[in-house]
Amino acid sequence: MGEFRDSLKKLLAWLKEERIDLAYVADPTSIAYLTGYASWTEERVMALLVSREEAALLFAPAINEGELRSFAWPGAVAFYQDGESPWKKIKEAIAAWPAQTWALEGGSLSLAWYRALQAEFPGSEMEADITDFLKKARLRKSPEEVAKLQAAGAQADLAIEIGIAALRSGVSEGELAAEIQYQLRAEPSFPTIVQIGENAANVSALPGEGRLAPGDMVIFDLGTMKNGYASDVSRTVGYGEVSAEQRQIYETVRQAQQAAADGARPGMTAGEVDELARRVIREAGYGQYFPHRLGHGIGMQVHEAPGIQPGSNTVLEAGMCFSIEPGIYVPGVAGVRIEDCGVLTEKGFEPFTHFSKELQILPIKK
Ligand code: MN
Repeated sequence: MGEFRDSLKKLLAWLKEERIDLAYVADPTSIAYLTGYASWTEERVMALLVSREEAALLFAPAINEGELRSFAWPGAVAFYQDGESPWKKIKEAIAAWPAQTWALEGGSLSLAWYRALQAEFPGSEMEADITDFLKKARLRKSPEEVAKLQAAGAQADLAIEIGIAALRSGVSEGELAAEIQYQLRAEPSFPTIVQIGENAANVSALPGEGRLAPGDMVIFDLGTMKNGYASDVSRTVGYGEVSAEQRQIYETVRQAQQAAADGARPGMTAGEVDELARRVIREAGYGQYFPHRLGHGIGMQVHEAPGIQPGSNTVLEAGMCFSIEPGIYVPGVAGVRIEDCGVLTEKGFEPFTHFSKELQILPIKK
């Protein structure tokens, strides 16, 4: 049947070190990271239980049985049907395991499920938590993971091309977002953001009825999922013409993005990398119009650790993957954001997306 993944072996080592009998992993992304089995069971219980005695159980709803039995997994499996108690089934399945001390995934396990689990194992201690262990384990990506992130990045570049080709006078944000999804035929990693003109200065706005006219700037911020890994990219373009002030805002964001991408190195703190970009924007006089962090980690999820933000003392290491996405949003004038995700290596930041960052002024199309 093969061996457990390295990620799961590290969890086993951690359990032994911490003298904890077993871990209960609740989050589907964590389960996929540790086992390779990627599924989403909505309101039904799915869990990975790992014993320090080198055993592991994938527990899932019975509707997952066919899929899970055809998946190459060296551990045990168990299932429950609707109407049965998943907690009783888990108890049966791990009856031979030591189960005095548990480490739960507190960042993901709901309070209701925690109470149900505790009621089934009344003598057990469930104080320990694996959330931080998993977060740290996922911080540095393996070369295989980096290759998947690069492949997802190539899809994101294509999505930007599709969006830009669809620009024409009168087209709405919602129409552009739908056109990208339709032509790309890839699972999005988050709802596609397209913001035109005034809306682009409103950072959190979803695609709406805003319609394109000459003189507008357009932000595309989108991503895809490929082989279980996420991409995320932003580009801002001009349509027909842009004003001198819009151009100045664009060039400031571009220089800020470049300063952080060129300057990031292992050994710097996340706060220092944030400052590389933020200083450029502040010195150009737009400091108050850059209200968000410079970036976020990316991997199996589109937002994960590390956060690249002011004041963060997290020391960056080679193998960490994150976004660099400064923005300036001036109400009534323009919103501009430029974003690449990439991997930090000893030589510096290597982006997963390569679409041009020169200011593009697209010709007017009727
Ligand atoms: Mn992002």
